[in-house]
Amino acid sequence: MAILIVADHDNHTLQAATFSVLTAASEIAKHIRDTELHLLIIGDECQSVVAMAQGITGLSKILVSDHQIHQYPLAENIAPLIFSLVQEQGHCNDENRVFDKVEYSHIITSAGTTGKDYQPRVAALLDVAQISDIISVESADTFKRPIYAGKAIATVQSSDAIKVLTVRSSAFTAASLTTELLAIESQVPVVALAAQADSGKSAFIKAELTQSSRPELTTAKIVISGGRGMQNADNFELLYTLADQLNAAVGASRAAVDAGFVANDLQIGQTGKIVAPELYIAVGISGAIQHVAGITGSKVIVAINNDPDAPIFDVADYCLVADLFEVLPELIAVLKVKD
Ligand SMILES: Cc1cc2nc3c(=O)[nH]c(=O)nc-3n(C[C@H](O)[C@H](O)[C@H](O)COP(=O)(O)OP(=O)(O)OC[C@H]3O[C@@H](n4cnc5c(N)ncnc54)[C@H](O)[C@@H]3O)c2cc1C
Repeated sequence: MAILIVADHDNHTLQAATFSVLTAASEIAKHIRDTELHLLIIGDECQSVVAMAQGITGLSKILVSDHQIHQYPLAENIAPLIFSLVQEQGHCNDENRVFDKVEYSHIITSAGTTGKDYQPRVAALLDVAQISDIISVESADTFKRPIYAGKAIATVQSSDAIKVLTVRSSAFTAASLTTELLAIESQVPVVALAAQADSGKSAFIKAELTQSSRPELTTAKIVISGGRGMQNADNFELLYTLADQLNAAVGASRAAVDAGFVANDLQIGQTGKIVAPELYIAVGISGAIQHVAGITGSKVIVAINNDPDAPIFDVADYCLVADLFEVLPELIAVLKVKD
């Protein structure tokens, strides 16, 4: 019996979400006798990712599908690969075609854009249900997940033979990977999987990525978000300045994104990103349920709003009823003096 963890990476490094998924998988493994953790890395020229994964303790095997068709993560190619591994209950080694028999009980990855794309396809191919966005592991077949934009938490039990899961990475502590771990001499066997044909159902056209020197929104320790109260894109400069002083990431409400103040990859909430920083600062954000759904994992929430009845104050630990155009310049000036 084994749990298959599908890694998030960019062909160079493992992404932070994978370490949270590893924690979730380890918690599931505690409820199953004699189970193994297998990490599946699907990519192209992704040797550095494999090397990094070898620094992870607790893995029994690393399966690697390193082929040109996986240069970009296309769900139409990833889903059949995972399906064949699980359906055939094992995998063929690339070189000597040795068949390793393994029975997978869980297929688990992060609830990121890519995982959300291929996991439902994997579940459909296996004719099982997919359980999305789990935030806790109750047992090997029972998980908790938010519903109604986080207003309620459902406890979901699955009787399917194979559980196909996505994990809300901010809900699980990341299994640590430090530079010291990279130095560990790993004995984890690496199995190169046989090449697969391109499904031909989709093709990568282009990626338009926002370049930023600030921390990544979902892993930043401090996040400063602006809402409609910021009034326009130029005023977001105040948040960028403050963010740079605090080494924070900048986020936004959907209203700010829809108004064109910032790019849509900064959106936080039910239909945006889920964040769980040490400190979340909401500026000119009313605190609609769909926004709050994305910030409830934050350790400390600070809200700045000139409306004392704004719902954001119901979830904030520190509430500042004030005009943001007075408060932000003051904060920036104080932090500048401290520098
Ligand atoms: C299906 C669905 C999904 C959604 N998903 C998301 C999502 O993922 N994320 C999200 O954010 N929203 C989402 N929304 C939208 C959500 O319902 C709200 O409309 C949105 O969050 C409001 O954004 P806001 O707080 O910036 O704007 P508003 O609600 O307009 O609030 C602006 C706030 O700024 C304050 N303000 C104004 N001027 C100042 C000033 N000078 N100083 C201080 N405060 C000031 C006001 O008092 C007000 O509270 C979704 C909605 C739907 C229906």
